[in-house]
Amino acid sequence: MATNRARIAGRHFLQIPGPTPLPDRILRAMDMPIIDHRGPEFGRLARRVLDGIKTIFKTASPVIIYPSSGTGAWEAALVNTLSPGDSVLMFETGQFSTLWKNMALRLGLNPIFIESDWRTGADPKAIEAKLREDKERKIKAVAVLHNETSTGCVTHPAEIRKTIDAAGHPALLLVDTISSLASIDYRHDEWGVDVTVGGAQKGLMLPPGISFNAVSDKAIAASKSSKLPKSFWSWEEMLANNKNNYFPYTPATNILYGLAESIDMLHEEGLDNVFARHDRLAEATRRAVRAWGLEIVCREPKCYSSTITAILMPEGHNADRFREVALERFDISYGMGLGKIAGKVFRIGHLGDTNDATIIGALAATEMALALAGVPHKKGGVQAAMDYLVEEAGKAAKTS
Ligand SMILES: *Cc1c(COP(=O)(O)O)cnc(C)c1O
Repeated sequence: MATNRARIAGRHFLQIPGPTPLPDRILRAMDMPIIDHRGPEFGRLARRVLDGIKTIFKTASPVIIYPSSGTGAWEAALVNTLSPGDSVLMFETGQFSTLWKNMALRLGLNPIFIESDWRTGADPKAIEAKLREDKERKIKAVAVLHNETSTGCVTHPAEIRKTIDAAGHPALLLVDTISSLASIDYRHDEWGVDVTVGGAQKGLMLPPGISFNAVSDKAIAASKSSKLPKSFWSWEEMLANNKNNYFPYTPATNILYGLAESIDMLHEEGLDNVFARHDRLAEATRRAVRAWGLEIVCREPKCYSSTITAILMPEGHNADRFREVALERFDISYGMGLGKIAGKVFRIGHLGDTNDATIIGALAATEMALALAGVPHKKGGVQAAMDYLVEEAGKAAKTS
């Protein structure tokens, strides 16, 4: 592309909470000629990814793969399990939960939206109270986000399952893991989740373009009587075709090559090591933010996200202006403030193919950009993050 701007050397620091940087290995794995998606070679690829992805969701049940962004998999979760007018209990953790609620409304569902201040995860007590009130069993599903990407607050799905059981309520549990899958510990079967919604371009380190529904037996049973209109998103044909290693319509073949590589990479590192790495990079980021004297949006340590940290700008300073300065001078991108916190917040993504040195590079660019943009802060954030990472490396060396 012709541009008046001089070439910028080195890699762009893509610190948004998805899409995340593509590992070279995944890029190379996708660099393949197009194959016949009804032929035997595709059948082998399909089997490999359909089986492999179950190990990431930790489920023995089927995982459906759509050629769509994550939003499509949200719709699939709702239209396959619910009927017009059904109540869905949702919790306002931030912008993404608000968008899912708006989708439920547009689909003719009746979302019951528990409001909150966008600074914590979903509150199991508030959910339990609503379920206990629902004597007529109008609520057919509870839908929460494992990780609210707009605020950096997690909800613990196992706690929500316990709450539903404690209330003796038959509602399905739907969980969005689009910005947590393959980054934060997740167990579809063990935690009794009915539909887990996932996406490609965050923890799985893939280009945008595929999304997932992991579906329990109870969810499949619900799909048989669900009456919302569905065609493209229908599980029925997908499940039938997947059994024979094919898809009812053209799949995103080359992204599936990438998915096979991503699953291999995650297991080579070990999922527990992947989760520990994300926990560590998140803690390093929070230590930097605190040392700068800035405020983390998530106010409950129990809800801290290991994939994204949202940071409040000091009063009178615009987050978008700060992001512009950082991009212009240091070639780093952050997530912007979304919805009602637009301009007030910037978000550092620390997920996917990232390590101690990359996060330090990103935090150093951030500290320089804060200075350049004239945002009031204290120096020493990067030092605090480095001290923590050295401490952790020392512990790891002792135990290995
Ligand atoms: C990114 C994201 C989405 C939207 O996914 P798209 O791929 O942009 O459609 C939904 N939920 C959460 C939690 C996300 O992080």
